Amino acid sequence: MSDSIDTILQESYPDQVLIDDYAREAAKIVGSENVSINQADLLSTCRDYWPVNSIWMLEGAVPALPQLVTWPRSTAEVSKLLALANDKKIPVIPYGEGSGTLGGVIPLRGGIMLDLKKMNRIRSLDEENLMATVESGLNGALYEEQLNRAGYTGGHFPQSLRCSSVGGWLACRAAGQFSTRYGKIEDITVSLEAVLPNGTIFSGRSVPRTATGPRIDHLFLGSEGTLGVITSATLRIWPLPEKRYLASYTFERLEDALETIRLFMQAGTRPAVVRLYDAQETGNHFPELGNKRCVLILLIEGNTEIVEAEAAVIKKYVLARKATDTGPEHVENWLEKRFNISVASVLFQKGAVLDTIEVCTNWHNAHSTYLAMQKALLAVEGTLLASGHYSHVYPEGAALYMTTVGFPGDDKVNFYKNIWQAAMEACLAEGAAISHHHGIGLHRGLWMADEHGTGLLVLRRIKKALDPHGIMNPGKLGLEEARKWQK
Ligand SMILES: Cc1cc2nc3c(=O)[nH]c(=O)nc-3n(C[C@H](O)[C@H](O)[C@H](O)COP(=O)(O)OP(=O)(O)OC[C@H]3O[C@@H](n4cnc5c(N)ncnc54)[C@H](O)[C@@H]3O)c2cc1C
Repeated sequence: MSDSIDTILQESYPDQVLIDDYAREAAKIVGSENVSINQADLLSTCRDYWPVNSIWMLEGAVPALPQLVTWPRSTAEVSKLLALANDKKIPVIPYGEGSGTLGGVIPLRGGIMLDLKKMNRIRSLDEENLMATVESGLNGALYEEQLNRAGYTGGHFPQSLRCSSVGGWLACRAAGQFSTRYGKIEDITVSLEAVLPNGTIFSGRSVPRTATGPRIDHLFLGSEGTLGVITSATLRIWPLPEKRYLASYTFERLEDALETIRLFMQAGTRPAVVRLYDAQETGNHFPELGNKRCVLILLIEGNTEIVEAEAAVIKKYVLARKATDTGPEHVENWLEKRFNISVASVLFQKGAVLDTIEVCTNWHNAHSTYLAMQKALLAVEGTLLASGHYSHVYPEGAALYMTTVGFPGDDKVNFYKNIWQAAMEACLAEGAAISHHHGIGLHRGLWMADEHGTGLLVLRRIKKALDPHGIMNPGKLGLEEARKWQK
């Protein structure tokens, strides 16, 4: 078994007497059927999709366990559960569906796993103002299905749609595959309802905009469970699109394709999907296209006239760069496979370590960051491949998503640390932001000071003010000094 498991912080779990006491009180709030100390429940909520969790799991190891799981059914219950934990100074970790990729739900100091799955209703659908108010524990795919049945879409499709919750999206500032048209989760959010550690419930106004000081509810976007619990949100919705247009083009050079995207984005078009793969990933994901050219796939949807106009504008820019039109069928293939997330677990079982690292660049460093990160990743001993694609684009730049696979032999955790160190150093040296949408969790906290500078002190003070006993998801978001694990 990897000895690095000892380096996960296991200091000072709350005393068992305190937990037993909490369990009795919690049962009075949510009913005894919604409180568990059963090992199966503790185990099933103690981890997420962080690759290090997978390495440990394959070694039969568990880094940290919560001491109790509870399933509140309403905001009022969340409020009472939090107030009780705050009084007893017991850690609380909000749990959505555990699809985070950076160890965000690992209960580093034990405590209570607050699983939100039973808060899963759409509270209201406002068809005049095109907004849905939804509870945070609702599964992403079930949310979209319910909207579709009513003739709407939520416009948010992370690859993890089927294994993530609305609250997890909000807490991690998620981005969906159709984000260039519908926006990232923060653009889709009109307002939030959240509960502070002391049990105070508050919510923002569901109007399009306010100039009434900073939006306090929006502070919870990206807070990763460290400030309190998001219990519901009012989100923008759209009528199901009238028309969908699919196209794909290949380019000889990645930088030509990037320049084309910059130009059509700055001309004002907003296709829902813009994905540009390097030659290696083109070969992996679209084998019929070979691995010598870079493919750009596009999906435009919405009102028919607008879609047709956008398609014409984009085509003009693409063809001016001597791209080859490769038709709509590659986009259809991508649409079919886009939620398939099985590759990673298959590779892990074969002894590989695979991870994806998403960062955010401007146009001037979009290509150089790709080159620098690829070079840094390939220089790590054990790396087999380092490839990339761009999957969310803006007038100002793009998200770059690097994938690395290595066969490091026995020391998998060390290899994992090395690829991250190499990738983050290269990203920071290029002036790119260290995360576009996966967030910080446990592992990426190490680079939060590099990312934010003095801004991190501000974030730490906000944390101290809202959570003076430090009960909310301790050790995450880089809010505490770098942990032994990370050094
Ligand atoms: C294969 C795969 C593909 C992915 N694709 C994408 C993608 O396309 N786009 C993207 O953005 N992300 C993606 N992710 C990352 C992940 O799915 C997202 O971060 C997702 O938003 C997490 O949701 P969750 O419900 O699983 O949260 P969890 O993993 O349960 O929690 C994540 C963090 O949020 C906190 N949290 C959860 N719910 C709440 C709440 N109600 N209140 C306060 N804090 C809360 C937790 O404490 C934790 O810190 C992917 C992950 C995987 C494994």
